[in-house]
Amino acid sequence: MTDDTPSLATPYRTHTCGQLRATDAGSPAKLSGWVHRRRDLGHLIFLDLRDRHGITQIVVDRTEQPEAHAVASRVRTEFVISVDGEVARRLEGTENPKLPTGDIELRVADVTLLSEALTPPFPVNEPNAQIDESLRLKYRYLDIRREPMQRRLLLRSRLVQAIREVHHANEFVEVETPLLIKSTPEGARDFIVPSRLQPGTVYALPQSPQQLKQILMVAGIDRYFQIARCLRDEDLRGDRQPEFTQLDLEMSFVDEGAVMDFVERMIIEVSRATVPDRPIQEDPFPRFTYDEAIDRFGSDKPDIRFGMELVDLGPRLVDPSGAPASGFRVFDETLASGGRVKAVVAPGMAGLTRREVDELTERAKRFGAKGLAYLALEPGGEIKSPIAKFLSEELTRSIVEEAAANEGDLILVVADQAEVVAEALGRLRVELGGRLGLADPDVLAYCWVHRFPMYKWDPEGGRWDATHNPFSGVVPDDEDLLVTASGDPAKPSPDDPAGRARALQYDVVLNGWELGGGSIRIWRRDLLERSFGLQGYSLEQMRERFGAMLDAFDYGPPPHGGIAIGIDRWAALFSRQTNIREVMAFPKTQSGADLMLDAPSPPDPEQLAELGLRFVGAPRNPGA
Ligand code: ASP
Repeated sequence: MTDDTPSLATPYRTHTCGQLRATDAGSPAKLSGWVHRRRDLGHLIFLDLRDRHGITQIVVDRTEQPEAHAVASRVRTEFVISVDGEVARRLEGTENPKLPTGDIELRVADVTLLSEALTPPFPVNEPNAQIDESLRLKYRYLDIRREPMQRRLLLRSRLVQAIREVHHANEFVEVETPLLIKSTPEGARDFIVPSRLQPGTVYALPQSPQQLKQILMVAGIDRYFQIARCLRDEDLRGDRQPEFTQLDLEMSFVDEGAVMDFVERMIIEVSRATVPDRPIQEDPFPRFTYDEAIDRFGSDKPDIRFGMELVDLGPRLVDPSGAPASGFRVFDETLASGGRVKAVVAPGMAGLTRREVDELTERAKRFGAKGLAYLALEPGGEIKSPIAKFLSEELTRSIVEEAAANEGDLILVVADQAEVVAEALGRLRVELGGRLGLADPDVLAYCWVHRFPMYKWDPEGGRWDATHNPFSGVVPDDEDLLVTASGDPAKPSPDDPAGRARALQYDVVLNGWELGGGSIRIWRRDLLERSFGLQGYSLEQMRERFGAMLDAFDYGPPPHGGIAIGIDRWAALFSRQTNIREVMAFPKTQSGADLMLDAPSPPDPEQLAELGLRFVGAPRNPGA
């Protein structure tokens, strides 16, 4: 114990269950906690007593302490007890090196039963037990008692503490923004809350504090951060929940480099403080443009812990004039129609069976490709490939050379439109890299992806959609591109120069997960209006949706930008989890339910009446 360790002593305990050591032998101690395990040897009862801080072995001897023994013989696992006694060294040979308290035990004179417990629906004392997740969620309080959940929630708490410390040290101001607001679109559906005081109106729960943090910049806060709850009504996946937490920050008088530099230093400090044993692959973080990331990794959230980069075979498949000339119809037609032919090399996988290759082809098809071609480099140099018969021997060798494949490797080729090739090969790369164990699970490989396209054409809406955030700025060199080909801002078309504009948007990626994203904002009124116009918002609609921010921008907005980083994802990656539910105390199921609280649930009819609401056609209409 160091001197600055706070005492957690209370009338119920002199020490925690993780605190006593051999040097305490001979001293009195009182502990309280849950019975983790119980062994009854007749005249001796051993109890492992547990609290959040650890486990201590308790011994009750019938001959010496018959009353305490009588109480101890009634207790069962998960009962809450308080014990008083003397710390003793364990007999030689019975120490438990796995426990920090394993050199001692508490020989107790007194046992007080504080709470009884029903038999838990799953073992609390077996960290590796396979337990159905819905049972864990229903009895989350028991699940959180288990060691793995305790460890992860503690890590998350350290993470948030480190975030706060770094921001305060850098003169950020922590500001809370309200939950009952007006819609701030982030591309998801809003959760809405009907107003009782103003019948017929609703609040929207924030998809993020985006507009408010920008308004805080207009308000002169200069550097803002918040551990912010965000609510988005969207379909759930492993890395998504309807409510989640993000580190939200915004800075004034910055450009893209200034935000990225601060965020990068902050991330490194927070990582070192939270998981000091995890090496950071590269510092400074590599920065990829969006085009480069897609080109090299087939993804805008590349896992850079391993290579297996995509190889463009196109240049090898054309004649000197640039015309497709591979002789293989699929390749030639793809190239002629503006598509791409690219490959990834799976090291050491040439020996895959026919069935395994078929499986990979099925995967590629699921990712959108029409098919998957392959060339296997057998040991000894022979090339086995169903497409070899269409290609000259020279061309086959040339492909192998371009792919820089070695004997024993498998070259997987997809020919299709550029996005399909990137998607299919990017996904196969990650899957095979994982299967081959190429991604070091300890390493934290952060990188940046920036220069995203500003807009994506929405054929149904007949307008340009912001790819990230409707407030993202444009790369200064591309400002002139924020126009339509027709010249009329109200008449956008897919051929508009706007389609080529790049955003001042940056995403930070960790081990293949998008950890966060942000942008330098459009703070100049003229550019903002042009950008909103391209996104199909009339001036009136703009006022209705973003009126407060536009009004604020009339009063001197500073140049500003920020980012939001997913704390659930960060904690999951730090804890080596693939599902953010594992690092949330009370998450929702895939269908948005809280199994413990039984939410959502039908409202009281009086609540509906007060709000002037009636469910129409709801299957569980309580008022019906
Ligand atoms: N508001 C954005 C989000 O929540 C992040 C940002 O641009 O700062 O994703």
